[in-house]
Amino acid sequence: MQTIQNAIGGKLVESASPRTQGVFNPATGEQTALLRLSSVDEINAAVASAKAALPGWAGLPPMKRARVLFRFKELLDKHVDDLAREISREHGKVHDDALGEVARGIDCVDFACGIPHLLKGEFSRNVGPSIDSYSDRQPLGVVAGITPFNFPAMVPMWMYPLAIACGNTFVLKPSERDPSAPMLAWQLFMDAGLPEGVLNIVHGDKLAVDTILDHPDIKAVSFVGSTPIAEYVYRRGVQAGKRVQALGGAKNHMVILPDADLDQAADALMGAGYGSAGERCMAISVAVPVGEKTADALVAKLKPRVEALKIGPSTDKDAEMGPIVTREARDRIVSYIDSGVEQGAKLLVDGRGFKLQGYENGYFVGGSLFDHVTPDMKIYREEIFGPVLSVVRAKTYQEAVDLIHGHEYGNGTAIFTRDGDAAREFADKIEVGMVGINVPLPVPVAYHSFGGWKRSLFGDHSIYGPEGVHFYTRLKTVTSRWPAGIKSGAEFTFPSLK
Ligand code: NAD
Repeated sequence: MQTIQNAIGGKLVESASPRTQGVFNPATGEQTALLRLSSVDEINAAVASAKAALPGWAGLPPMKRARVLFRFKELLDKHVDDLAREISREHGKVHDDALGEVARGIDCVDFACGIPHLLKGEFSRNVGPSIDSYSDRQPLGVVAGITPFNFPAMVPMWMYPLAIACGNTFVLKPSERDPSAPMLAWQLFMDAGLPEGVLNIVHGDKLAVDTILDHPDIKAVSFVGSTPIAEYVYRRGVQAGKRVQALGGAKNHMVILPDADLDQAADALMGAGYGSAGERCMAISVAVPVGEKTADALVAKLKPRVEALKIGPSTDKDAEMGPIVTREARDRIVSYIDSGVEQGAKLLVDGRGFKLQGYENGYFVGGSLFDHVTPDMKIYREEIFGPVLSVVRAKTYQEAVDLIHGHEYGNGTAIFTRDGDAAREFADKIEVGMVGINVPLPVPVAYHSFGGWKRSLFGDHSIYGPEGVHFYTRLKTVTSRWPAGIKSGAEFTFPSLK
């Protein structure tokens, strides 16, 4: 059986760690690879290799770095299908969905290709007598990324292409559940001419993460994952003196006003609630119809759609949704559905018993739909991260807004309406980082930045786009004058324009 290797110093190396775990195909339940959970020494070796590569890489003209990224982008374009297959095999998402993930990752590489322009500083002539001033942004050094299972190719690409374009070198610790897509991308980056040690990949668990967080040679850490771990990573990393951005979990609400086109709203809820089996941090997991009439009509449209969901392995071209990533995640989702029933929510579509012929050992859950969910229920308060949509009925628009404001998360939200005033008010006032107006998955494009509010993001910077450039660089401001402009004699007053 294949063993997943680390990539250190430009080479694939097998970890010597005795601690191992399996990588599985969630559609069949079969183990497809063995992953070794790297030791402290192995993480340290990756950091040392990134450190050794730093002066050469940071010293290159940004245009030369951009050329490597451009070749990387071309290779990614050629291998989109291969990448999507690697994603689907270990994650389970259907092929078209995996292609969408790869495309959004490539967008981030595309953005990073513009690094010479993005790093351009500001210059002011004559800030004082014969004095000029300029500021520009310089790389931080060795930086690290720790990523979740649900976008094994895209989320790492939110991080390393831009960090590397900025002149940093990188250590990536991908999810241990689906490690193959980032390894293929690494190979393509190397084939594009990336110097050895600029991007290193180490596989591992908490030990690897803690070693990264405490390592004195790592200057910044980008994390994406669940909120408890995001908060832990943020606190520990900051404690160790690092810059940290840690993106966490979500509970995204979609408000449906009475004037909305309910067929459009129901279709949007299907894609945003059940696409990728609900395993997206921007998935809509709560529908909030305003008014009983809206709620009754919406639920009547949703129920048959959820019942008709086509579920299958990624190789089934007609499948709209695949299996859940692991057996444990599947069991956790089922226990959430149990708890919703116990706490009195009305289960309109029950996906718990779902079985697929020929895939009896796969980790499938059918699409599930709850109505009459209330804010005190566990299925409302917690992130389920599965194909379970909760309908919480609101009497008024204000009640819908208060509901969203009362939740601990603030990643994404959407409103469906034809009323421009209401939409504008919602976008302006809602305490959520990413807002869609008749757009259910408002994931910002690569030249904007991605980030939630409240307990969906710890740190000051959103990820990728212009905020990513700021995160991976630090500002330097130079003030200069030449001897002809210097008056003789010491000046003891604070420099100012007199
Ligand atoms: P996770 O938090 O379990 O794992 C994320 C990373 O943290 C992995 O690399 C994992 O190895 C590591 N990790 C796990 N436990 C750890 C521990 N105790 N100490 C240190 N490191 C640890 O998340 P996941 O299950 O892989 O991904 C799903 C979660 O990610 C969901 O909560 C989802 O909302 C969130 N997510 C958020 C965003 C966003 O942009 N906000 C994007 C994608 C996913």
